Amino acid sequence: MVEMQDKPKRQRSCIACGGKAGKGDLHRIVRASDGTIAFDATGRAAGRGAYLCSEACLEKAVASKRLDRALRASLTDEDYERVASDMKQAIRGATG
Ligand SMILES: [Zn+2]
Repeated sequence: MVEMQDKPKRQRSCIACGGKAGKGDLHRIVRASDGTIAFDATGRAAGRGAYLCSEACLEKAVASKRLDRALRASLTDEDYERVASDMKQAIRGATG
């Protein structure tokens, strides 16, 4: 059985290293319309998103302010800690 797809598979790039991967392989950080920064476990949350491939890239993106720029927001230490800890949990949950 052949399935016809209207849209090509969307490729996203990690904002820190530029590595490309399918949407499901990257971790999404989202800024909601109310300004809340959060790790987006579903990848479907509404708002402006930024993609990262790993915890290391999250750290790089924060240190270089790329995450702030990608989300057009000013992340506080609290935002960063919350996102980092949620992302770590998601990564560990997915791998074991
Ligand atoms: Zn990366």
